[in-house]
This record gives sequence, C-alpha cells and structure tokens, in this order.
Amino acid sequence: MSSTEVVRKTQIIFREVNKRIAEITSAHEEKSSEFLCECGTATCATVIPLTLSDYPEIRKDDAHFITALGHRVDGVDRLVEARDGFEIVALVATEGVPSGS
Ligand SMILES: [Zn+2]
Repeated sequence: MSSTEVVRKTQIIFREVNKRIAEITSAHEEKSSEFLCECGTATCATVIPLTLSDYPEIRKDDAHFITALGHRVDGVDRLVEARDGFEIVALVATEGVPSGS
C-alpha cells in the first residue's frame, strides 16, 4: 500500500469512530462532544470539540474530513474550509495518479 492509501484508510477508520461518538453523544442528550482529528496519522490523538449540530453539517458531504489546524496532509487532502480551530478537508482525487511504490 502507498502512504497515501494508508492515510486514507486511517481517515476512514477515524471517521467511523467519530460517527459513533456522534451517536453516543446524541443518545446521552449531550449537545457537543470531542471528535477525533481525521488527518490520517495513526498516532494522532488530537480532539476537536464540535457541537452535534456542526458535525452532521460538516459530514453531509461524504468526501469531507475534519482535521486539526496544521494536520492537513499535502498531496492527500485539499482544504475545503477553514473554521475556528479546525479545517474541513477533502481527499485529492487520485484517479490515474501513480501509487509511488
Ligand atoms: Zn491529526
């Protein structure tokens, strides 16, 4: 697997975890929670505080991920929107791009 594929896979796993955080948070009738940075670095443990109204709005586009400031991976992510304390990024399309292996 190329490093890009590893990053993407990690991002998708972290996003699944964040979905669960959102579900658990709403089940407990909380209004906000701490979501994991989805930068794709397996060792990243940065949390991003978000309200439960922000999260679905950010995640309505399946291609979007949330990352802490400065965690965006060049060549894998492109900036969609900078917010207060975090960024919304999208995966760069890699169709036709050599894997680099
Ligand atoms: Zn991160």
